[in-house]
Amino acid sequence: MAIDARKKSAAEDLRKTRTFGKVRCHNPSCMERLVPEPGDEQVKCPTCGMEFRLFWINKTLPRIRGPVWDVNRKLAEERLAELEKSETQKKTKKGGK
Ligand SMILES: [Zn+2]
Repeated sequence: MAIDARKKSAAEDLRKTRTFGKVRCHNPSCMERLVPEPGDEQVKCPTCGMEFRLFWINKTLPRIRGPVWDVNRKLAEERLAELEKSETQKKTKKGGK
């Protein structure tokens, strides 16, 4: 009974990892699956480092309320700074705007 075996291991997995609600990282280039602990107010994506604020529809069902701007802005600024650095290295002319 292959199906039964699979069912059982799936159930055991569920119990072991305590899979409550999962959310997806809102970073479009990441989309990592995030599994916050019940009651957590924030979750940090281990892959891209972005942090998100959570709200809980019920005890086991989290939703991302929005990004944690302080953290994500810092990440974005760092990335932007990198970009600008390589940009200015490419073209020494000052860009208008
Ligand atoms: Zn991510």
